[in-house]
Amino acid sequence: MATVTIKNVWKYYGDTPAVKDLNITCPDGSFVSILGPSGCGKSSTMRMLAGLEHISAGDIHFDDVRINDLAPKDRDVAMVFENYALYPHKTVFENIANPLRLRKADDTQIKDRVTSAAKLLEIDHLLERRPHELSGGQKQRVAIGRAIVREPKLFLFDEPIAHLDAKLRAHMRGEIKHLQRQLGTTMIYVTHDQLEALSMADYIAVMHDGELQQWGTPSEIFNHPVNAWVAGFVGEPAMNFLTCDVVGEGDGVNLKHKNFEIPLLPHQARQLNGAAALGTARMGVRPDALDISMTKPDEASIEGEIFVNELLGGDLLVEVELADSRIRVKTTPEFVGNPGETCHLTVNRDKWHVFDAGDGHAYF
Ligand code: ADP
Repeated sequence: MATVTIKNVWKYYGDTPAVKDLNITCPDGSFVSILGPSGCGKSSTMRMLAGLEHISAGDIHFDDVRINDLAPKDRDVAMVFENYALYPHKTVFENIANPLRLRKADDTQIKDRVTSAAKLLEIDHLLERRPHELSGGQKQRVAIGRAIVREPKLFLFDEPIAHLDAKLRAHMRGEIKHLQRQLGTTMIYVTHDQLEALSMADYIAVMHDGELQQWGTPSEIFNHPVNAWVAGFVGEPAMNFLTCDVVGEGDGVNLKHKNFEIPLLPHQARQLNGAAALGTARMGVRPDALDISMTKPDEASIEGEIFVNELLGGDLLVEVELADSRIRVKTTPEFVGNPGETCHLTVNRDKWHVFDAGDGHAYF
């Protein structure tokens, strides 16, 4: 187990920075997810942690040991990749045992560790099979087993379940989280899938374009995104954004749009802190922070026209056309309203957000 400290770390490929001044501290025993779209620098960060890529600038410490110049084999980390990289001609037992054989561990220790890892992963009945006789999920467990037997300080998982089908992915999410809890080993888990990060991690580092956007618990990232980029990336269906005029001042500030004028709550007006002078801002509201009805509930409601209804299992997603955009509302399948009809939306103002129209930072 180890506390992992990434301090002012940069990665350059030629003149191009792929990771820019990254600062993250992963507490000992925690499950940390690095989340971001393709190309944001997640794998470069992992590879620097594993020692597969040179650190261009900055320092990485495991506890109080600076590991910048340590060879991969001396870092005591175990990696699991999306491609499991199993030896096709070796049995499951020998695939899992491989790192211990490389270390010249004795046979009794190998047998003990492989058997207990296989039991933990519920693949102990498959030990004599070869990889081609396994399903995708089973192969991934073998790759994880191979990481576990090393009893490393740190697990690095790089999109380990991205290629599995949706049902198996959902199952493996729970399995990996449970496993990390049981072992108590610090885990850094890279993914582009916000649902994976939200459901598994103790802390999430959201990256975009080589830069850390936000560090926080899943609830902080989801409920209090620091900018419009994080707000738009995290959450499915995605947050709705509408550009509004900011009118009024002091405690009496309204967001004004062609379809509505809604007052901010007094503490929210204060958080805007004079930005009203800027003229416009971006309102952000998640589909489940809107109520929809066919009758007008009050003056601050938003009038629109139903564009389409989509039934998503237990929820109904209604897409509503406004003067210059469409927004999506999550409601129940009992909602009665058809495309083309006028509807009214009410914003839950405890759950909405206002972002700067320029740099996108969140006022609240
Ligand atoms: P992610 O894992 O988030 O998809 P990467 O860390 O793989 O992102 O890549 C970050 C950026 O660095 C991308 O623009 C990518 O094209 C670039 N990059 C990654 N590896 C190399 C490399 N070996 N040489 C040059 N550029 C690279």
